[in-house]
Amino acid sequence: MQIVTEIQKIQNLCQSWKDKGETISFVPTMGCLHSGHLSLVKKARSVAEHVVVSIFVNPIQFGDNSDFSNYPSTLEEDGEKLRELKVDLLFAPDASSFYPEGENKVERVELGSIATILEGAHRPGHFAGVATVVKRLFELIRPNSAVFGEKDFQQLLVIKQLVSAFSMNIEIIGMPTFREDDGLAMSSRNLRLNQSEREKAAEIFRQLNLIKSALNVGEKDFLMLEKMAIDSLSSVGFIPDYVVIRNVSDLDNSIKPNNLKVILAAATLGKVRLIDNLRV
Ligand code: AMP
Repeated sequence: MQIVTEIQKIQNLCQSWKDKGETISFVPTMGCLHSGHLSLVKKARSVAEHVVVSIFVNPIQFGDNSDFSNYPSTLEEDGEKLRELKVDLLFAPDASSFYPEGENKVERVELGSIATILEGAHRPGHFAGVATVVKRLFELIRPNSAVFGEKDFQQLLVIKQLVSAFSMNIEIIGMPTFREDDGLAMSSRNLRLNQSEREKAAEIFRQLNLIKSALNVGEKDFLMLEKMAIDSLSSVGFIPDYVVIRNVSDLDNSIKPNNLKVILAAATLGKVRLIDNLRV
């Protein structure tokens, strides 16, 4: 596995594979890799001749500076895990070389309502930052496919919208959420939960499952279900941002009876903001 930090070098290496007609699958991450990330890498390994993983904590997708500066970094261990999975290239640029124009001057990619509702409303500018970094990475690497986790369900839809808006010929592959034994969705941020918070954290997944069971037996009062989950989370110490039932394809709240749905939740526990979702 080669570790590359320079933009020009990653571009040249990927271009040399493309010149030979060889396929590339790409997994963008912010590092601190866990089994969820590794499942994306394994998927990429199974669909292409070359696998590129990026580790880049993208400053322009963080509104809250402390979330950015506290983001854990475990580059050496990450490199070992990726080497074991036979990743070809690890791209780990620093912010000043990735954004030579300066972070404040980067022209943001804006994608309309999918990027401004829910997470977009609670973290203004977040998805513009995500779309901007992913577009730049896609242009450098020019992969045939890219693998993302359903853990960040809205992000997956934002990336699909990005590829469609810019007519990029890249297959976007979504992978199921990896969970701890108690149901908590794996996340690099879980490391920042203290022991008592960690014991409570799976309550989000429990509430998502309660809503799913109620929907499956025909409950139609979505607002009541959402409110019950929000109240339950609050009662055990979370500060919920939202628990909502939405259309799976566009996260719209006008849901017709036969539409596939997804339940999405975001809530803060202690200093850590957790998100999760469950499809119905
Ligand atoms: P991050 O490093 O958090 O930006 O995540 C990089 C990629 O890993 C994104 O596509 C995430 O959706 C995905 N991911 C994060 N956590 C999980 C998980 N628990 N299961 C599956 N994929 C995940």
